[in-house]
Amino acid sequence: MAAFDPIGSRTVALGEHREPAFVHAEQAAAAREKLAARLARRKRRPNILIFLMDDVGWGDFGCYGGGIAVGAPTPTFDRIARNGLQLTSCYSEPSCSPSRATLLTGRVPNRHGLHRPPMYGEPGGLQGEITVAQLLADAGYATQAVGKWHVGENVASQPHNVGFDDFYGFLSVSDMYTEWRDPHFFPEIVYSEARTDWVKNMPFNRCFVHAKKGGEAESVEEVTIPVLSLLDEKWCQYSIGFIERMAGGDRPWLLYHCSRGAHFDNYPHERFLGKSPARHPYKDTLLELDEIAGRLIETLRRTGQLEDTLIFVSSDNGPHMETWPDSAFTPFRCAKGSTWEGGVRVPGLMLWPGMIEAGRQSDGLFDFNDLLPTLLELAGESARVPDDRYIDGIDQSSFLLAPEGLSNRKYHYYWLGPTFSGLRCGEYKMVLSATSDDDGDAAGPGGFTGVLQRFAYARLYNLYLDPKETHNYMTRKLAYVEAFQTGMRAHLGSFKRYPPKTVMGLKAPDPRRS
Ligand code: CA
Repeated sequence: MAAFDPIGSRTVALGEHREPAFVHAEQAAAAREKLAARLARRKRRPNILIFLMDDVGWGDFGCYGGGIAVGAPTPTFDRIARNGLQLTSCYSEPSCSPSRATLLTGRVPNRHGLHRPPMYGEPGGLQGEITVAQLLADAGYATQAVGKWHVGENVASQPHNVGFDDFYGFLSVSDMYTEWRDPHFFPEIVYSEARTDWVKNMPFNRCFVHAKKGGEAESVEEVTIPVLSLLDEKWCQYSIGFIERMAGGDRPWLLYHCSRGAHFDNYPHERFLGKSPARHPYKDTLLELDEIAGRLIETLRRTGQLEDTLIFVSSDNGPHMETWPDSAFTPFRCAKGSTWEGGVRVPGLMLWPGMIEAGRQSDGLFDFNDLLPTLLELAGESARVPDDRYIDGIDQSSFLLAPEGLSNRKYHYYWLGPTFSGLRCGEYKMVLSATSDDDGDAAGPGGFTGVLQRFAYARLYNLYLDPKETHNYMTRKLAYVEAFQTGMRAHLGSFKRYPPKTVMGLKAPDPRRS
């Protein structure tokens, strides 16, 4: 049999409502054996810690080429990479809420409907969706969310109503609490009583909250600028308390810890103010995030839970270059808000001592929507993957656990709001539509500034030879068109059976009418 190759190998259909996947029989058997041996040894299902940062770039960590070279050393993240699996093709969506909803539901934005973030109290979010937290809670897991939510402020979309036992954090996004309070960014609001009152009367909660399943969200404290600078510390302490409490119990748990940093605007905790070599607020904040990740891992170690816990470290989208210099580092084209690689390629570190081999790196495709089926498989609960809706995620447990495991995913699909932008297979990416100021935006701010361009002919980029996506390779590589058309037809065809949904943003065209 020919060696495996993502373009030349076939996927296996898993049902009408599931993305087809590669089945690597040997590595799947090895992973199952490893899981069974662990369960026999440890006598409990694994815990899961998702450590999700905000707007941190693919290249910010030292292990991705940044770190001290860009004025912010990241010893903890680099150590996680050395002791675990470093993914170089981990994909989010182009901005916060689409990514977070995709991570929690296992579905692309055109299915969960969050094409863009809800802002300043706009209603709409995860309500009606099934989250991995809900599925794990149904399976007996304790489920805790801490930090940034931003997938719906309306009651039915709040974390304690979509699967979490408890939530301690804010319901929206960092800048919304502070930008209108800061005379540097918004003098015309700060120095106008009428405008300040106008913002204060918008229908969003200006406090961070605490909520328990079955109850209502209760305000903890108003997020003023001085309070904001303390949030990551407060949330770290809350998560440490949760990990310590869980240590004595029988229940496995999911901790979804979403940092405040390093979304604009950053007001570092005084312990970190000016402490990065760059002496810049964004970089100081990265130092704090690195330290917090280290404290959470140390708490797991101290309480004897490290070997029972899978840790996933990532960021919810590419760096936001339109708030430069409060921004981050990517070697790819463009930035947050776009479907160029710079917008959606994010750091992805997996740590699970004894289960995931130390020091592995892989460029295999891993999508945020893969977490839902993967985590359920690791928990021994794969039968709980919903079958009443389309699930885009693929079970990647064997990719993570098997020695030299390969990705089970053939295609990554890029969605720019309700617009299908393109797909990747192997080192090639076909692009039909994308944001662009002009063809020179490779080094420009891009992201939310660009216009939507639909190209006259699909473009093809080789991401190994051309990570900046500036050389259209299509006319020399037409043999690949078949592989991309097959993937595109199957993906877009799934929306005819399972119609798209819009909760936030422009309405998606209904493929049943085209
Ligand atoms: Ca973000």
